[in-house]
Amino acid sequence: MNPKVLTIAGFDPSGGAGVVADLRTFAVFEVWGVAAVTSITYQNTSGISGVYHLPPQAVLRQLEAIVSDISIDAVKIGMLGSEETIAIIIPFLQRHRLSPIVIDPVLKSSSGYPLLDEGGIKLLKEKLFPLAEVVTPNLAESSTLSGVVVSTLQDMKEAARIIHSYGPKNVVITGGHLKQKATDLLYDGKEYALFDTPKIKTPSMHGIGCTFSSAIAAQLSRGVELKVAIKKAKHYILRSLQQPLKIGEGRRVLDPSIRPD
Ligand code: PLP
Repeated sequence: MNPKVLTIAGFDPSGGAGVVADLRTFAVFEVWGVAAVTSITYQNTSGISGVYHLPPQAVLRQLEAIVSDISIDAVKIGMLGSEETIAIIIPFLQRHRLSPIVIDPVLKSSSGYPLLDEGGIKLLKEKLFPLAEVVTPNLAESSTLSGVVVSTLQDMKEAARIIHSYGPKNVVITGGHLKQKATDLLYDGKEYALFDTPKIKTPSMHGIGCTFSSAIAAQLSRGVELKVAIKKAKHYILRSLQQPLKIGEGRRVLDPSIRPD
């Protein structure tokens, strides 16, 4: 029987990021995906012009409908939008003892549009991170979350230690925007592990963070060990970046015909 993986995230109508990208990634990794939408974004491949956060009760009712019927083997959390939504999701996750939880701490779009309010960032760090098996910030997100300006591997180590102190079991800082190599850093509270891939030149891309964290959640739902899951997710992204798909006039997306090895 296929594992079932839940994503709790935003809706990008162009399909490049958010729940649509998550569900596509789950399918590519051959697990069944279910989704609860937190916010509707008004966006296409060229950018975001607005967001509408669903009332927290509407988010909760989607979640309760899912878990009253389907047993969940892993959870991926992406864009949450508001403090109120996080405040309703935390007791939901605890009530149903859902795990493992992968959190992609979506704070802003690449173009700088805020996707989580200030109160939400605080609650995310203090109350949601402690429930996570792993959190997967990129360089910009790790800077905001840790207060360290992160641009080198050394900065990543410092930020990972600070973010780990908020309570997640593991922190992976994704280094796709580092200058030399695309090195991701894993910190489990004791040791660092590095995951290297060469840096390749691509047009501007959309939905990489969503896809990376969903690929990890899909594998954890099968009991794959975290380091193995990160390595495979990273290699899958690299192969996808080598063949970006153009669907509109703006940023490129990941081609779902590319399969993980
Ligand atoms: N829209 C949604 C719904 C998202 O979840 C995300 C990021 O995770 C974005 C937009 C931003 O994507 P990008 O970082 O490619 O701008």
